Amino acid sequence: MAYLHCHNCDWAQDDFWTWRYNPIICFWSDIKWLWRPRFFKLDNWFIEELSRYTKVPVFNFNGKVFSWNWLILEFIKNLKVFLKQRWWTYKSFVKDPNKICPKCSSKSLDID
Ligand SMILES: [Zn+2]
Repeated sequence: MAYLHCHNCDWAQDDFWTWRYNPIICFWSDIKWLWRPRFFKLDNWFIEELSRYTKVPVFNFNGKVFSWNWLILEFIKNLKVFLKQRWWTYKSFVKDPNKICPKCSSKSLDID
């Protein structure tokens, strides 16, 4: 896994995708995890942060959320991550002769 980000601004993208880690795998594992209807506990700060990021309203019952509500949130989150991904794979990043930040056009991109 490798996380690409800019040192000049706050732009960052998800880890590079592989056969084992990509939006389809994430989507499928969310469905497997969240399809069964039930309530489960999450930290309040985590619920609030992801709800703010995705703009999906989450009904928080004393720290418990409903699985289908969280499934919608995870779907929107993965979609946002997917749309923000500039370079899908490490190979495509290495091959790109014009590696500049999509937000500020700086060349100070870095991989952690
Ligand atoms: Zn930047």
